[in-house]
Amino acid sequence: MKIEPMEQQDQRVERSQCDVLVVGGRAAGSTVAPLLAEKGYRVVLLEKARYPRFHIGGSLLAASLPLFERLGGADEVTAVGMEKWAAEFVSPYHDRPQVFHFAEV
Ligand SMILES: Cc1cc2nc3c(=O)[nH]c(=O)nc-3n(C[C@H](O)[C@H](O)[C@H](O)COP(=O)(O)OP(=O)(O)OC[C@H]3O[C@@H](n4cnc5c(N)ncnc54)[C@H](O)[C@@H]3O)c2cc1C
Repeated sequence: MKIEPMEQQDQRVERSQCDVLVVGGRAAGSTVAPLLAEKGYRVVLLEKARYPRFHIGGSLLAASLPLFERLGGADEVTAVGMEKWAAEFVSPYHDRPQVFHFAEV
């Protein structure tokens, strides 16, 4: 897949340049764009934010991993070295923390 950054803010995308215009390049856009390109569609992905950007890390659910394997980024995710086996939810309203082991769901 060929990825070409569009550096100029005011660059126009002509109708003839792509079959699919994806607006937004985070979870949804950066997933669907390469999958469509892989199928032979000419895809232009537009993202208004500049990356890399400051971002507080979030959780990554195990169900996402097959998708990273499909997209080809699983090795990079593994290389980060933060394996997450479970999540625990605590609440100020009761004293019953709930633990979800990902291997069981
Ligand atoms: C506070 C918070 C915490 C979260 N924590 C987690 C977590 O820990 N784990 C988890 O799995 N999920 C978490 N989520 C949910 C997760 O962020 C969303 O499910 C996910 O980001 C949705 O992805 P998306 O691609 O649909 O939309 P978004 O992530 O919202 O991406 C939309 C993109 O479109 C771009 N865009 C918007 N308008 C335009 C435009 N006109 N032109 C070009 N680009 C445009 C935006 O800049 C953005 O990059 C959290 C959400 C919130 C709000």
